[in-house]
Amino acid sequence: MENTIILKSDSLFMKTYARFPAVMVEGSGCWLKDSEGKSYLDFLSGIAVCSLGHSHPEVTEAVCSQAAKLNHVSNLYYTIPQTEVAELLVANSFADRIFMANSGAEANEAAIKLARKYGGEDRYRIICLQGSFHGRTMATVSATGQSKFHKGFEPLLEGFCHVRPEYIDQLENMIDPTTCAILCEPLQGEGGVRPLSPEYLKAVRQLCDRHDLALIFDEVQVGMGRTGTLFAYEQFGIEPDIMTLAKALGNGIPIGAMLARESIAESFQPGDHAATFGGNPVACAAARATLKVMLQEGFLDEVREKGKYLRECLNSTVQEFPDLLREVRGLGLIQGLALTRQNMSLGTEIVHKMFEKGVLINFAGGEALRFLPPLVVSRVEIDQMVHTLRSVLTEVDGDIEA
Ligand code: PLP
Repeated sequence: MENTIILKSDSLFMKTYARFPAVMVEGSGCWLKDSEGKSYLDFLSGIAVCSLGHSHPEVTEAVCSQAAKLNHVSNLYYTIPQTEVAELLVANSFADRIFMANSGAEANEAAIKLARKYGGEDRYRIICLQGSFHGRTMATVSATGQSKFHKGFEPLLEGFCHVRPEYIDQLENMIDPTTCAILCEPLQGEGGVRPLSPEYLKAVRQLCDRHDLALIFDEVQVGMGRTGTLFAYEQFGIEPDIMTLAKALGNGIPIGAMLARESIAESFQPGDHAATFGGNPVACAAARATLKVMLQEGFLDEVREKGKYLRECLNSTVQEFPDLLREVRGLGLIQGLALTRQNMSLGTEIVHKMFEKGVLINFAGGEALRFLPPLVVSRVEIDQMVHTLRSVLTEVDGDIEA
């Protein structure tokens, strides 16, 4: 059965994904099962999506009961789940208003359009960072600071430029009378799990204030509890003006959101932007249930504790394999293990060996193994992942020496 589905799928789909040979059929908590009955410990969570784990009972119940009541109405009308998600996000963030979309790229598109509208006729340029990732639509590809995502799609959209992270003078020199915003991820996920420093982000905030620029944080990957606070910006001592979310917001049901302060949000007027499915009642029922779980007392404390534990385990793995591993980077339960320069090419092989042994991780930015377990992961599961990782690294280390 597994082979038939793989062959059929490969003959039908465009070749955009390099997939692993597994047909996933069910999931529960941190575990997935394929059609052959093999279990996988999921330390990727659909790339930071299923943060409450697979088939979380409260999300499942919310989706099923909403689907039985009302699946969709146009945004020409109001719905209860949509309003309640908006209320929860606004009450727990810097923002005053929200726009709902279906994905991270769409949330970023909305942020880019809002920033340009705020900028007025003359100010349209957005300064982004090298190494960033913001999505696959033409505007978000243009905003993305990695040339491998640009190749074959040029010319890119006008109005985006990229500077090196942590070099505040470079950023300041880029600001001109056409600049309307600065866009960044507080921690670059796809770029190789690289948190920006609080000092840099504070200086970026000051530049935005001085030049009346909108500061946009793309928290599509790191928002929704991933770093140990509901939003990553809370750990940097500053607030953005616009923030985008998606991935974990619906725990696997597609939903994205763009949030902003009133002074910027008011630039959008009726007809300026829209999304047919944005704020869909079933997606919002999932998001409401997800948020309620994450906001329960102690939930985020646990994420921070487990993040610390995962980090300690990864740090001791670095000590054990100094030829292969360089450093641990990350916040909370997004952690990266950077490979040594001479061994960066081994990343994909390590990920494949982990897969064969039933543990899912991936390789980000061409240099770091990335760990994104569901936020409900247990210490026992962390130990299990680290045990498998060590056995894979021992094999790989042995191969290098041989
Ligand atoms: N922004 C960031 C930081 C991301 O990590 C991603 C996806 O990986 C996106 C935007 C794009 O999100 P989506 O794939 O939902 O469009």
